[in-house]
Amino acid sequence: MKTTEESSAEGDLAEFRVNGTRLKKNLLQIAAFGKNPERGISRLGFSEPDRKARSWLIEEMSRAGLDVWVDQAANIHGRRAGKQPDLPAILFGSHIDSVPEGGIFDGTLGVLGALEVVRTLSDLGEQTRRPLELIVWADEEGVHFGQGLFGSRAATAGPMRGELDLTGSDGVSLHEWIVRYGQNPNEIERAILDPKSYAAYFELHIEQGPTLDRDGVPIGIVEGIVGIYRFQAQVVGFANHAGTTPMSERRDAMISASKLTQAVREEVMAKPGRQVGNVGLVRALPGAPNVVPGRVEVTIELRDLDESVVADVIARVRLRAAEIGREDGTEIAIEPFAAEGPAHMDVGLQDHIDHSAGSLGLGTYRLPSGAGHDAQNVARHGIPTGMIFVRSKDGVSHNPGEWTEWNDCTRGVEVLYQSVTELDAR
Ligand SMILES: [Zn+2]
Repeated sequence: MKTTEESSAEGDLAEFRVNGTRLKKNLLQIAAFGKNPERGISRLGFSEPDRKARSWLIEEMSRAGLDVWVDQAANIHGRRAGKQPDLPAILFGSHIDSVPEGGIFDGTLGVLGALEVVRTLSDLGEQTRRPLELIVWADEEGVHFGQGLFGSRAATAGPMRGELDLTGSDGVSLHEWIVRYGQNPNEIERAILDPKSYAAYFELHIEQGPTLDRDGVPIGIVEGIVGIYRFQAQVVGFANHAGTTPMSERRDAMISASKLTQAVREEVMAKPGRQVGNVGLVRALPGAPNVVPGRVEVTIELRDLDESVVADVIARVRLRAAEIGREDGTEIAIEPFAAEGPAHMDVGLQDHIDHSAGSLGLGTYRLPSGAGHDAQNVARHGIPTGMIFVRSKDGVSHNPGEWTEWNDCTRGVEVLYQSVTELDAR
């Protein structure tokens, strides 16, 4: 971590090796695939715009001298030979699919930034010791089939049970889409990466949150991707006539649920830290204007890098729920229904990226990622993983207004270049 004074350092773009003009041109070129007439990009994973963008990208990767192939999960790989072909490779990349009406930087910066690293090496006539492998993960956003991080999951843990049979709104299964992409999903296990073949995985990505932009720091180093814990709260009161039941005699499950919602916010914020919480789904029963709600179900979602922080918050929420129930004559039961633990980025690679950025005169912050990324699957697969963030203007993402200054894109790619080449030399 740099001091505040050093953190304002922006690096000397004129001394950078990567070509920011070429990077910008490529980012604008890929933005044409799935561009909406009104606003933003709609290039869902496994769709026609995605397929066309991939064809363009495969062509560009080949022209950059990479040996390109597509695996059975539709991930695109591009290999650049190293002087010592038997050494484990350095893997780097991201995704090019988007959410509906998304922005032009999410994922694409990491992919086209990786391609720019490869082109810069060629411009400089450099050959690394280790092989380099550019990876473009299939369907990261997961909008089409409702499950994110498909390609990286298929290449690490393998697809979820039944995942290939999922069908999108177009009535076509994921299995069929993989066939349309020219691959054989019946052999999807062949897409699994051997962790021993890779020395490290780097992913450059926009932050998608406000921290770096707010504090004027150009480079973020991701400590980990937060765990996501979901709970279902069942509030049971007594359904009764909304016209004839006196106010003082109601056992209104909605009133308790609204107090519980407020309590979740208060308990998440009660202690310092970066934990977040959300009550995002409500169902009131029987669900009529003239009936006092007898039963209300709400979801509680908590996220943090540290599981014990989440356990502490939910324990306090349970105490509050018991109090609320006593006040209102209701009963509140809170049960976990989904949990995905945090994925920690490699500590050595965090230091390494920090050193790389520092050598370029760039200030850094270490921060967790509140959003999911393919890097979490790669990290859990036992490949040391590092993530580099660049600033998102006002923290806006998954929105046509998503913006990262072109110079910040270039700064991020230069850090990626430095991190890859310095690790290779080590
Ligand atoms: Zn992304």
